[in-house]
Amino acid sequence: VAQRLKGKTILVTGASSGIGRSTALEFAKTQPEDLKLILTARRIDTLKEVAAQIAKEAPGVKVLPVKLDVSKPEEISGFVGQLPEEFKQVDVLVNNAGLVKGVAQAPDINPADVDVMFATNVTGLINMTQAILPIFKSRADGGKGDIINIGSIAGREPYQGGSIYCATKAAVRSFTDALRRELVATRIRIIEIDPGQVETEFSVVRFGGDKAKADKVYEGVEPLTPEDIAEVVVFAAGRRENVVLADSLIFPNHQA
Ligand code: NDP
Repeated sequence: VAQRLKGKTILVTGASSGIGRSTALEFAKTQPEDLKLILTARRIDTLKEVAAQIAKEAPGVKVLPVKLDVSKPEEISGFVGQLPEEFKQVDVLVNNAGLVKGVAQAPDINPADVDVMFATNVTGLINMTQAILPIFKSRADGGKGDIINIGSIAGREPYQGGSIYCATKAAVRSFTDALRRELVATRIRIIEIDPGQVETEFSVVRFGGDKAKADKVYEGVEPLTPEDIAEVVVFAAGRRENVVLADSLIFPNHQA
């Protein structure tokens, strides 16, 4: 894997916490020669902490932490245009940034929560993809690169009280499948990884920062760790070029 990831530039959205943060650390841990990581999220201070941890654990890896809100299209275009020369040739985009807000039956859902979930989970992921694909296509050695989208089991099995979040992840799934078909027989791989329950800040965000409520979600069950998902992301990116790990569903045993 280290050999196949040698020299790559990997961009992770939502790298300040949970699955995105673990993905950044996992790529660094494989210690490919000349690995470059672009880590983005809204909390730049937290991103800098992740960068500092990588500097300590894998000093050969170059890390660029960048404040980027994927729900703001103008930030995405500005960010891609201003990437430093050394980080410009992105090879892998991990579209991970995402969130759920609130738990409400459809008639009671706050319209602002609907907007933020779609703007982040769907439009943000689409805009990031559109911003990075031209970089893949313009390579001197022909179009090449990986887009790894983090979907969710929620996109396949909608649940009560989660209609909007589930709809966003179903949209991710449809977009990803269509894109893979559009890019068939190219060297651009379109990959979707759908986690089940993972213990991250996800539930804290859902309940508006109420940690006690978030902790209750995991009572009596053993959720996945963000590292469990990160390992699969790195595995997918580290396959031989002709191998597309197109679609994975990963859940803890209690969810099966
Ligand atoms: P966390 O809340 O721990 O991490 C979410 C990350 O997304 C943070 O780094 C956050 O950074 C970032 N983010 C949120 N909004 C934005 C935005 N507008 N712009 C840029 N970054 C943003 O949750 P997870 O790690 O669990 O979630 C990661 C992905 O995994 C999401 O897409 C989620 O839907 C998916 N998922 C999670 C599951 C779970 O059980 N945890 C199950 C299935 C899928 P910041 O706040 O600094 O911007």
